[in-house]
Formats: sequence, C-alpha cells, structure tokens
Amino acid sequence: MAEERVQDEQRIEDEEELRPDPELEARRMAAMSFIRRFGDPVLKSRATEVDQFDDALRAQVSRMGGIMGDAMGVGLAAPQLGVSQRLLVYRVGQDAPLVALANPQLEWSSEDEEPSEEGCLSIPGVQVDVERPIHVRVRATDENGDERVVEASGLEARVIQHELDHLNGVLILDRTTREARKEAIRTLRELESAEEAA
Ligand code: ZN
Repeated sequence: MAEERVQDEQRIEDEEELRPDPELEARRMAAMSFIRRFGDPVLKSRATEVDQFDDALRAQVSRMGGIMGDAMGVGLAAPQLGVSQRLLVYRVGQDAPLVALANPQLEWSSEDEEPSEEGCLSIPGVQVDVERPIHVRVRATDENGDERVVEASGLEARVIQHELDHLNGVLILDRTTREARKEAIRTLRELESAEEAA
C-alpha cells in the first residue's frame, strides 16, 4: 500500500514536470496572437525591400526579437507579423545574439543537402521534413544599414533559409512531399476544430 502511494506521488511529480510554467505559457500565447497563421495572404506574398534604416526599423527588429523569444521560436520573418518587409531575425542557441537581416540575398548554397523536421510559428502544431542545403552564404544589411555576410551551416543555415522563404511567400508545406503536406493540412484542420470546440 505504502509503495503504491509512493508511485502515485512520483506520477504526480512527473505530470507537473510536463506542465509548462504558467507565466511562460501566458507569454507564449500572447506572442502567438501577433503571429499570422497559415491561410493569411501575407504569408503567400513576396515582401518588399527595406529602404529605410532608421529607428522605426530598429524598433521593428527588437519587437520581432521579443515576440520570437516569447513564442519560443528560433527565427521570425516580418511577414509573419503582417509586415510585408524583407526583414528576418533569428537566434540559434539561448545565449547567441539576435541577428537581424534586411534584404537578404542567398549568394551561395552547398550541393550537400539534408532532410530535417521543421516547424513554423505560423503553422503551429505541425512538423514536416524539409530537405535543404547544409551550408549557405547570405549577403544582407543589418538594422543599422551596414552590410553583413553570414556564412552558416546546420541549424543556423536551416533557420536562415526557412525565414528567407517567408520573404518570398514560401512555407514549409511548399517544400515537403505531397503526402506530408496532406497529412499536415489534416492535422491543422483537426487542431482548428479542437480550438473552436474549446
Ligand atoms: Zn516559419
């Protein structure tokens, strides 16, 4: 009997560990409310060039960094906030600095590609396999108007390519197999009807 109780307590502790911190969860939900969802036309459009490197742009970068962090994402593109601007931010690793790239141009990508599961803050609840080059070189302008060349590999290269796609109206569902896309759309519909029912 006593043993059983110990097991019950253990089980309760395990469940508590799985439950997210309510404050972080509230912040995540608030951030998610700013992010445009799959189906919004802004996510299918080509964004326009950034031509002013001013305080408004720097404010936009820090807003994007804040929303991305609260939403627990590693990258965010301006169109995801409904702003049709060729601007993306990312942070790969907790202590890494926030990187902002305006008007990024993919200068080079490796022939070596690899598939990996990707999610998207605009398509929450869905993960699909996306094949991408492992290494890239991107030329861009930072939030102060200075030229910046980024050579990236692995996760950083993947995040940059994912966010660059957003600037061209391309989503992970456009980059996966027909089967995976169908499955993802089915999952999305189920999640939506569950949300409506809640
Ligand atoms: Zn995305």
